Amino acid sequence: MSNEKMLRIMCPNLACQRILTVPDHARGKLVRCRSCSMTVRIPAKSAVPDDAKKDSAA
Ligand SMILES: [Zn+2]
Repeated sequence: MSNEKMLRIMCPNLACQRILTVPDHARGKLVRCRSCSMTVRIPAKSAVPDDAKKDSAA
């Protein structure tokens, strides 16, 4: 079955900000905005930056 989730990300181009719909397997890859042709990196995890994983106990 093709029960693939779709991700929605916003184009980082401030002059565009188009919502791009990409397949879940595109995580960690690059896609190109169809509107402005800017290359957009798909986060590997759901909106959780890698730095957030680090313990802030300094
Ligand atoms: Zn764009």
